[in-house]
Amino acid sequence: MNLLRRHPIAFVLLALVVVSAIDPLPALVDAATGAPPADADLARPLGYVAAAPLSDVLDALTFLSLDRARALLAVWAVALAAWGALRPAAPRRRAVRALLGPVALLALGGATVTLPRSVPRLVTSDSALTVIDYHAHTSASHDGRRGWTALDLARWHAAQGFEASYVTEHNLLFDQRVQQPIPLLPGVEWSVAGQHIVALADTLPVDRGRFGRDTRSLLGLFGELHRHGALSIASLPEYWLAHWDDLDEFVAAGLDGFEIVNCAPKALAFPAARRGQVLALAAARDLLVVGASDNHGWGKVTCVWNLALSGVRGYRSNQVVARPLALAQGEWLPWTAAYTQPWLMFRGLSWSERCSWITWILVVLIYRAVPRRAGDAGGLGILARSLEVFKLRWPRKPTTPGP
Ligand SMILES: [Zn+2]
Repeated sequence: MNLLRRHPIAFVLLALVVVSAIDPLPALVDAATGAPPADADLARPLGYVAAAPLSDVLDALTFLSLDRARALLAVWAVALAAWGALRPAAPRRRAVRALLGPVALLALGGATVTLPRSVPRLVTSDSALTVIDYHAHTSASHDGRRGWTALDLARWHAAQGFEASYVTEHNLLFDQRVQQPIPLLPGVEWSVAGQHIVALADTLPVDRGRFGRDTRSLLGLFGELHRHGALSIASLPEYWLAHWDDLDEFVAAGLDGFEIVNCAPKALAFPAARRGQVLALAAARDLLVVGASDNHGWGKVTCVWNLALSGVRGYRSNQVVARPLALAQGEWLPWTAAYTQPWLMFRGLSWSERCSWITWILVVLIYRAVPRRAGDAGGLGILARSLEVFKLRWPRKPTTPGP
């Protein structure tokens, strides 16, 4: 009981790791049906599992919609600052503690978008399927990360199990030849009349001015792209936010498909009910539905993959497989992010990740729980000795009052 009182955080974390296993989330779901996919699984490398507390937290921070990211960071920054300031200590020490939490949170945010780390990869059991991404950027796009080359992008995709990716710069044709580690395919993301249209295949020249005046002129773009042999896909979040009432017109004018998942923070808030409506429209008109990493060089993990079936067109030609934590972004109000995001993260842990979490919590707990003898230095040496002391003393240790 004394140990519990002195180290409440460790015990709360242990409880969360164990209790969340009662109602677990699958590693992946089919974005159309919500069921785990039959032909695909998420493989977590040893390095990812060994560092599970860091891996899982950084993944969970990557899969936040923009509003939820803001809410989560604000609530945790205030809570950590208050906790640091209110713990009994000298005023100077309190001030340092109050600053430490928000600074650590900022560092974690920076690590989420830049820290090199081991990442999970999609594996398929069906060789007829191609794991593909339909929408990604390099530094050639105005909002792409500086120095993010086509080769960086190909490596980013290959590490996560992709076998090919379209590169869709903003209003610019991708014309580089990259075959290794995976082939990169040419496309363009056209910005016209408040809508982004991902065109797959070589599509220049298109007179953007002609199609960008208003929704009516935008409708002509789909036929123009067909004349270039390109497929056109309406991108998120634009069709949801700016053209929701125009979707039937888009389809009638020749649009070939819709993104139903897009990992960009602005697009992650797309609600499941809206996704259901778009899926119904696409199924009825036999249109393509796709997922998009929309990678711009930031972040190490994708929230979505596509399993493309060759020789088939339309609705059945592509299966969208996503991380459930990303799909849940549209289901929870932003202000709940501070507690729903951690809870969804814990529910999504595999058994190997849970074992890793428990090991890390116990190691830190034992390190912190055993009183150091005078003159003992901190560091890993004390941990080895502590384990010995802990084992021998714990059962007979008399309870001592807390601080
Ligand atoms: Zn994009």
